Amino acid sequence: MRQTVGKKLRFDVFKRDQFQCVYCGATPSESVLLEVDHVHPVAAGGTNDIDNLVTACFACNRGKGAEPLTTVPQSLEEKAALVQEREAQIRAYYEVLEQRRARKDEELWAVADIFMERFNEDSILRSRLSSIRMFLERLSFYDVLEAMEIAADKKHSPNPCFTYFCGICWRKIKRANGEEV
Ligand SMILES: [Zn+2]
Repeated sequence: MRQTVGKKLRFDVFKRDQFQCVYCGATPSESVLLEVDHVHPVAAGGTNDIDNLVTACFACNRGKGAEPLTTVPQSLEEKAALVQEREAQIRAYYEVLEQRRARKDEELWAVADIFMERFNEDSILRSRLSSIRMFLERLSFYDVLEAMEIAADKKHSPNPCFTYFCGICWRKIKRANGEEV
């Protein structure tokens, strides 16, 4: 296994790139192992500076002709190191996914809270949560939050308020797509 970059630095590069191959988007799995690629090759004077390193899967890093990992003859030690590396990558990738999900949930409830507090409700319809989640996928958190603040300010009952909120969000999406508003 060719690995010239230490584990700490390697995983810092993976984290920065969200554990995604920058060339094909592959993420760690039983069949995908990530490596670090020197943008400016070592042979041409490239360094191990983090700015010179990107996340690349085995196939992209070694070229299409590279033999699959399983057919490369390995010593027991190399095999054990490979399994350990794969497991560490998958574990760290799941942590990143979990953090991303937690952040999305926090954003969702921050927007929903404005609505619930405005109308003194301690719950919100599932369909409304789905709408907010969908807008958060397509707009920035601050755009969605601002839309709810404006709607809560203007409308004095839940249904018109939520409809107004959706209207603002759709206008923002259309504007971002360059459509007439
Ligand atoms: Zn790749």
